[in-house]
Amino acid sequence: MKREHVIKPVLDHHYPTIQYGKGVYLYDEQGKAYIDGCSGAVTAGLGHGVQEIIDAMMEQANKVSFVYRSQFTSEPAEQLAEKLSDLAPGNDYWTFFVNSGSEATETAMKIAIQHWQEKGRPGKNKVISRRMSYHGITLGALSMSGHVLRRRRFIPLLEDFPVVMPPYCYRCPLGKTVGNCQVACADDLATAIKRIGAEHIAAFIAEPIIGAAGGAIVPPEGYYKKIKAICEQYDILFIADEVMTGIARTGAMFGMQHDEVEPDLMALGKGMSAGYTPMAATLVKDHVMEPILKGTKSIMSGHTYSANPQSAAISLAVLTYIDKHQLVSAAANKGRYLLNALHLLADGIKIIGDVRGKGLLLAIEFVADRTNKQPFAPGLGVTSRIIENAFQKGLLVYPAAGAIDGEGDAIIIAPPLIISEEEMNQLVRILAESIREVMAELT
Ligand code: PLP
Repeated sequence: MKREHVIKPVLDHHYPTIQYGKGVYLYDEQGKAYIDGCSGAVTAGLGHGVQEIIDAMMEQANKVSFVYRSQFTSEPAEQLAEKLSDLAPGNDYWTFFVNSGSEATETAMKIAIQHWQEKGRPGKNKVISRRMSYHGITLGALSMSGHVLRRRRFIPLLEDFPVVMPPYCYRCPLGKTVGNCQVACADDLATAIKRIGAEHIAAFIAEPIIGAAGGAIVPPEGYYKKIKAICEQYDILFIADEVMTGIARTGAMFGMQHDEVEPDLMALGKGMSAGYTPMAATLVKDHVMEPILKGTKSIMSGHTYSANPQSAAISLAVLTYIDKHQLVSAAANKGRYLLNALHLLADGIKIIGDVRGKGLLLAIEFVADRTNKQPFAPGLGVTSRIIENAFQKGLLVYPAAGAIDGEGDAIIIAPPLIISEEEMNQLVRILAESIREVMAELT
């Protein structure tokens, strides 16, 4: 085997070398085209090679690319923070810039803990999350994540944070049916708080729509209103992990806007810079900042590249582009079209158990038996076989296997928000072929 120097996810797998990208397509060194059906890792929301973003990047690089946040601020960083607050529910968020989604959720956790310390309640330092969740790969973020496969190797190093049941309607943890459940799964949060004691809990964290840990799982209507009310009742901060859902992806600027809930903190990443640079942020409500402003006046966190002007200028250009091309409503409309096409697929492919999602964050869950929702045996590797088959045919889709405590098969379909109807049809055609071929091998 030729020695390759970049450590890849699977070390004995061959990864093609990409030459360039344009729109929803990526082209490898052999000239093969791939339709980016998942925006990489639900990131490249504007597609590839957008000239306006490249121009903004060059313009800022010609002024200054880096200043250290302990020495200077910059015009792009200040403007971006203002713009994010203007777009966010309630318009009263401060922004702490970081470089990845994991840093954004971990910073949210630290700010929540510091908030209570500065209020003279240092015992409030645990974070509750959900059993099916992914909030990042660093140890703090992983401590808050329920993702069994990603946690397993590091369990001795993780904080033993509590988890509550997920709002997973396809396999309701309470065996109830949608519309007839009084959103009872949300009550599990109140039960957990009472068991642990609110005096020990800083925050509850949740993804508005569950991403990698289940595949575009949309909670039942009223779920987040109930969650927010429980958090307020027990004096617990609500952190919305919008790393995957944020910045237009679901047909709203922030996923939580569908539910008309204003989180106390939000974590952003991925679509914030649409893949043009590493960039992420923690948004913090005014009232969460208040005791810190009155107290120590400093947040004990930060990274070398936090708030660098180059990344801020790129993110600003991304937000301008989204506004100019009305990509929030585009995501909603195109999402309806694509969801419908995926539902039609399900009619003829019996291993499709569930089709779900919102905007252009969609997923398919696969089952061995549709009538009893029996999952495939993990050893069959159904998710990776479908993804690999699609890849060979020039379509990229994202894995969300392991929804059922480490088992189960699902893929995420989340193309760039600029995808055309013809490209969506092409995506669905290749996907159908890829699934049908794997199904034929399985049965
Ligand atoms: N939070 C959510 C909801 C995510 O989907 C991810 C990544 O997939 C993260 C956090 C971690 O982000 P990053 O990979 O940029 O560290």
